[in-house]
Amino acid sequence: MADLHMHSYFSDGVFSPPELVIKALACGIDVMALTDHDTLAGVKECCDAAEMVGIKNIPGIEISTHEEVEAHILGYNINLNSKSFTDFVEELEKRRRVRSEKLINKLREHKIIIPEGYFDGKIKRELSRMHISFAITDLGYEPDNETAFKKWLKEGSATYVGMESSHPREAIEKITEAGGVAVLAHPMRLKLDHFDRIKFIKKLKDWGLSGIEAVYKNSSPSTIKQFKQIADTQGLFVTCGGDFHFDKNVMMPRLLPKGAKIALNL
Ligand code: AMP
Ligand code: MN
Ligand code: MN
Ligand code: MN
Repeated sequence: MADLHMHSYFSDGVFSPPELVIKALACGIDVMALTDHDTLAGVKECCDAAEMVGIKNIPGIEISTHEEVEAHILGYNINLNSKSFTDFVEELEKRRRVRSEKLINKLREHKIIIPEGYFDGKIKRELSRMHISFAITDLGYEPDNETAFKKWLKEGSATYVGMESSHPREAIEKITEAGGVAVLAHPMRLKLDHFDRIKFIKKLKDWGLSGIEAVYKNSSPSTIKQFKQIADTQGLFVTCGGDFHFDKNVMMPRLLPKGAKIALNL
């Protein structure tokens, strides 16, 4: 059983990689992938912890990109010794820092003031909008982080700042060059209508995309079916991911399709 999408405290999850491994083991997962946002910081520790308990962690990452709309690209089976990929990830971390600064400034213009140094000691690496949504809530500007997201952080809101500096084509090409396979995360969240989504996925496929995450978190059976069909038509494989961050989410043990096994070299 597999769950190929989860986050640790190296991005915006709350658990350490070994804690995630224990949770994965407890729900019957034998192939997992830690896919932190724009960082590989937890991967080695996760692979080692997984190996110790007899399961496999596929080296992974989730890269935030923007092309018309926000698109998250998952990279699997990346060669961790690829200097050009680790350089690229360092660049992604820098871009994320610039983006966070822009977002915090924009919020300030709207009278949402996150004090300088607020996140010191609270996060391990780079900020994600998840951390910012908690800050907005903890500082008393909104009642909960879902409201904070809806009003201030999600795509389309007045103060939205995406990762415009990263392009999906670049992410897909870098992943592929480092021996990995690229998969579009949560395709049902693309802010496009049905036909434009299909066109968008086709474009990513032309750039080297191998799969789409048709089975995602709490997607309905009809959504899953719809994206499985799109994958079939375009010759992409499907993956499953729970996008686990903390205990409000659940991991999603599912059987890996045959094509995915080959592509991921399991
Ligand atoms: P970022 O990678 O900084 O753009 O932040 C994206 C992260 O914010 C996602 O990975 C989720 O963890 C979180 N997120 C996205 N949409 C929502 C939402 N509607 N409500 C709460 N959290 C969200
Ligand atoms: Mn996240
Ligand atoms: Mn995502
Ligand atoms: Mn994610």
